[in-house]
Amino acid sequence: MLEELRSIVQKVNAAKDLNSSLQIIVHRVRETLSTQVCSIYLLDNDINAHVLMASEGLNKAAVGHVSLEIGEGLVGLVAKYAEPINLQDASLHPSYYYLKETGEENFHAFLGVPIIHHRKVLGVLVVQHEEKRRFDEGEEAFLITLSAQLAGVISHAEATGAIAGLSPAGHKISDAIFTGISGSSGVAIGQAVVVFPYANLEQIPERKVENIEKEIEFFNNCLNAVQEDMRGLHSQLAGQVAEEERQLFDVYVRMLNDDALGNEVVERIKQGFGAQSALAHVAKEHIHTFEMMDDDYLRERSVDIRDLCGRVLFYLQEKEPVVVDYKDNTILVSDDLTPTMLVEVPKEKLTGLVSIKGSGNSHVAILARTMGVPTVMGVVDLPLNQLDGREIVLDGYKGIIISNPSEQVLSRYSDTIKEQDELIEGLEDLKDLPCETEDDYRVHLWVNTGLMSDVMNSLDQGAEGIGLFRTEVPFLLSERFPSEQEQADIYREQLEAFAPNVVTMRTLDVGGDKDLPYFPIEDENPFLGWRGIRVTLDHPEIFMAQIRAMLRASMGLENLQIMLPMISNVNEVNSAAKLIKRAYHELSQEGLKIKFPPIGVMIEVPAAVYQTRALAKLVDFVSVGSNDLTQYLLAVDRNNSRVANLYSSFHPSVLSALQYVVSQARLENKPVSICGEMAGDPGAAVLLMAMGFDVLSMNASALLKVKSVIRSVSLKSAKDLLNQVLDMDDAQSIKNAVDLELYNAGVDRLLRSSRIN
Ligand code: PEP
Ligand code: MG
Repeated sequence: MLEELRSIVQKVNAAKDLNSSLQIIVHRVRETLSTQVCSIYLLDNDINAHVLMASEGLNKAAVGHVSLEIGEGLVGLVAKYAEPINLQDASLHPSYYYLKETGEENFHAFLGVPIIHHRKVLGVLVVQHEEKRRFDEGEEAFLITLSAQLAGVISHAEATGAIAGLSPAGHKISDAIFTGISGSSGVAIGQAVVVFPYANLEQIPERKVENIEKEIEFFNNCLNAVQEDMRGLHSQLAGQVAEEERQLFDVYVRMLNDDALGNEVVERIKQGFGAQSALAHVAKEHIHTFEMMDDDYLRERSVDIRDLCGRVLFYLQEKEPVVVDYKDNTILVSDDLTPTMLVEVPKEKLTGLVSIKGSGNSHVAILARTMGVPTVMGVVDLPLNQLDGREIVLDGYKGIIISNPSEQVLSRYSDTIKEQDELIEGLEDLKDLPCETEDDYRVHLWVNTGLMSDVMNSLDQGAEGIGLFRTEVPFLLSERFPSEQEQADIYREQLEAFAPNVVTMRTLDVGGDKDLPYFPIEDENPFLGWRGIRVTLDHPEIFMAQIRAMLRASMGLENLQIMLPMISNVNEVNSAAKLIKRAYHELSQEGLKIKFPPIGVMIEVPAAVYQTRALAKLVDFVSVGSNDLTQYLLAVDRNNSRVANLYSSFHPSVLSALQYVVSQARLENKPVSICGEMAGDPGAAVLLMAMGFDVLSMNASALLKVKSVIRSVSLKSAKDLLNQVLDMDDAQSIKNAVDLELYNAGVDRLLRSSRIN
């Protein structure tokens, strides 16, 4: 059975579209279970019904024409309860609904299992038999297992149709919605520009070109280059491997010949497609054909084609680096968006960001928030290679993408964009007003930065200091470790721009999801591995260069604070402090007169929460990194879209940990701040203020919204609210209570544009 399962899933995976997938499923399931009928019904949201999409055993003419409304018949029942139904004689069941076009009256035994993807029932897989007998447990288990494995493939195939404007049943549709997670709030309407890593056939978008002659010539040159490489390998291997194996490279050369694969690609270029798109299309077709073959040897040949075409693609991309044509309203889309991809787009052209992987707490999303670019993350079902050049709507509040937008949707979202702009304009008057509550309690709002452009933005918003400068951002954008002098220049800019206000520089925090291209960290479990302070203490040369650069940059300004990330015990603080002192003495001996800066620790892991007091004794300040603290307290990977709904900084455990940190830092009379995303959520900010955080550090784009909310409440009402929510036992009720408070304060409109999880 396992063999059968694997083989069916493999073939369905290789199918070229939804219909072929469904055909393969019904054919192979009927054969494997030796049953008389196998059918698939899929939910068509557009007509609110389950449509018979494929069948072997029922009348062919009924396929695509008969449907059952939601909840109707046995199929409707399976879908409604998301549970299998196994009947000896279906016609005796009260929900039996006879569809005469199908000819199913001859079949008594019925087994239907739901096809479920991400908790959503996509449809129902049904087998039927003439005999009056229940399908046995083994058959039921087989169908359930198969259905679970196929759900993702079916969902992906449906999504591909939806992008092209077609429902599962082939109706023209508009406003196809793809759901992800909010990465950065805001709405954007624009043209999708898909960027992709090099030499990956699966991720080449379909692109058209104007100059066909030139494209063919370019393709032929690349093809010849690969053939040359193959001939080279052929002679290089003489005497080293068996002659038969050596011949393989001759076969490769022939496969690429003009009258074989090469010719097909040229034909497709003649239809106007770019060489890369044409090659990817032809390659995938051949790979598919080979993968469908039953013969093991022939099936393996698909690997050869993938490899060969990958090599040609490599040349196509090497010789002509992909020059991306960023449109005026670019919505940048990628499988796994990186900070580098983001900063390559001219700022004035970038209106939105979409990443198939990652979640709202991925660093690229944080960067997007800093830049104020609406972003949706983790849109796992979005068919990437069909998207380039399409107009899409991006709703960063709800975390959705809408393709084929209708006139109504476009006009509704244009209105939202206008409202958004007006809201931001309306807040500008607050810039120079103090952040204090109605009963005159003063809170300090600082900002988080990474790039120099954030600094300018922050000053524009009236920020009073930098609570977190993520020093790894310039490291991420560099091609090697920046030298001490280069770092000092970067740090000086930030310190100067904010002087005399405080700038808190965090020492290099790489690892986890922040990999430097020139310093790869291979960890099985990166978030629990070599991260933050653990890396830099193991590499004192990197740490020392950074500290020296920070100290040198602060000379004469004296507004530097140094902060240590990912601290999980006191030894790390002691070791880091020793190195900082050493760097300071070195510089003093070199004759530089520098003020020794305050040093702080980040509370980001549960172990640090419980040691807040011991840690606070060793340093001058503590700052909570609520992004990581939430991740580690709840055991929810901040990057994993599948568990993103479990990630909530309003979780009662997170709130009580935060309250505990403040109380412990107070016992040592040390200031305590918070610099995770939570501080930038207006509702959460009210709770944090009530807890006693001295400084809230956030993205510049959140600053005026938070200020507006804090100025509209009193410290007393904030404390009452805090007491009320600390008694609650789930995140959603807490969020609701906070929302109600803001509603009563008349500032709920700010919530929609700033919500965190
Ligand atoms: C945090 O973890 O909350 C934090 C501020 O650090 P980062 O998001 O850079 O990991
Ligand atoms: Mg962190």
